Amino acid sequence: MRAVITGGAGFLASHLSDYLIARDWEVLCLDNLVTGTKSNVAHLLSHARFQFVGQDVTRYIEVAGPVDYVLHFASPASPVDYLKLPIQTLKVGALGTHNTLGLALAKKARYLLASTSECYGDPQVSPQPETYWGHVNPIGPRGVYDEAKRFAEALTMAYHRAHGVDTRIVRIFNTYGPRMRLNDGRALPNFVHQALTGQPITVYGDGRQTRSFCYVSDLIEGIYRLMQAEEHAPVNIGNPQEITILEFAERIRALTGAEAPIVFKPLPQDDPKQRCPDITRARTLLHWEPKVNLDAGLKLTLDFFRQQVAAAGRTRSSASD
Ligand code: UDP
Repeated sequence: MRAVITGGAGFLASHLSDYLIARDWEVLCLDNLVTGTKSNVAHLLSHARFQFVGQDVTRYIEVAGPVDYVLHFASPASPVDYLKLPIQTLKVGALGTHNTLGLALAKKARYLLASTSECYGDPQVSPQPETYWGHVNPIGPRGVYDEAKRFAEALTMAYHRAHGVDTRIVRIFNTYGPRMRLNDGRALPNFVHQALTGQPITVYGDGRQTRSFCYVSDLIEGIYRLMQAEEHAPVNIGNPQEITILEFAERIRALTGAEAPIVFKPLPQDDPKQRCPDITRARTLLHWEPKVNLDAGLKLTLDFFRQQVAAAGRTRSSASD
């Protein structure tokens, strides 16, 4: 099997590449490294079945030879990133999805769109089933990501219906694990970085908003199963263990032994108040459910972040020498 993965040097797609390479697949990774980093795939670069090509997928994509799967993961995905890169975010969801669907059509390849729980916006229904249409502010700051992904889903279904492309859509809920960027601005990297460097832990709003965090290996297993399944409608993949952001901050404080206090900062506009996946569809169709609980996943992630914080400290001290 040969897969083209866009955003292949990002957090999630690099883990998916590992998973596929371990199962004897060939992987062509496309990434313009706007938010991805080559160090995520450094260990794969010398592998005979792995190839990295620097490419902005909002431009025409040319791939030689047969392709079995096109997996479209390219996009800024953390709120801080897509607020900084609003136009790139809209373009990769629109033009990037168009180009990758065109590639799948030309190659007669299966297609998987990495979509998101942000399609549900600030939901008025919880947990969120795939049948919920969402509650999105199209012109708010998060609209650039939410609407790009909603458009990407619409285009994927249009290519399926009009051109018969064999498509899949996964709606990914908050996922964490090694290779998240320390400075991507999301709750987990922020809290861990703050805890490990003795800074106050910044909870936005009153911290009563909820999220449901899925460990990366569980997510990748769910996506792989969806790739094999015969399902064109969106499928939620996430961990339904819901937690408030304040509890989450306290959990990280306890696990790291941090003594710095929790401080409260303003809640960003349109920040979803509740997010929890209804995974009935994944359970039924894919016989999948998450296996790694929050404490176990956080321990694995902390090991990675400790190394990152130490490396960042070494870089700072050699720069000041
Ligand atoms: N958050 C926070 N402190 C931070 C970063 C994020 O309290 O330093 C909150 C954020 O407002 C949101 C939740 O944590 O309610 C999760 O935010 P994240 O950026 O991880 O992603 P989201 O789930 O909003 O896409």
